[in-house]
Amino acid sequence: MKIVHGRADGVATQARGETFTGTVWGDPVLPTTTEGNTINSVTFTPGARTFWHHHERGQILVVTAGTGWVCTHGETPQPLTVGDVVWVPPGEQHWHGGGPDTIMTHLAISLGPTTWLHEVSADEYGQAGR
Ligand code: MN
Repeated sequence: MKIVHGRADGVATQARGETFTGTVWGDPVLPTTTEGNTINSVTFTPGARTFWHHHERGQILVVTAGTGWVCTHGETPQPLTVGDVVWVPPGEQHWHGGGPDTIMTHLAISLGPTTWLHEVSADEYGQAGR
């Protein structure tokens, strides 16, 4: 058993870059669990979002602050707020991010490796505001 009190000790909050649009901060919670699973607390600043991606064995998102969006490829972005929980099935292409004018922080419980694809365009993201 391992208990993490708030966040992992001795690991600085990390600026996320190459697979994100805008300013995103990631705070490791359980960065190195068994079986390649990770738990990070991720904060998206307004307008910031992931690239399109998918997770080999799925992902659970738990919104802990703010409001934002999650979107499955081919569908309309869906609003998220504090307390919302999202199950992303294995291999399902999607993105998540802050709102146009709001931050969002979520716990991201990623099961297995993540495959990163292309950037979410302004038009694709802009659908979230309509
Ligand atoms: Mn994801």
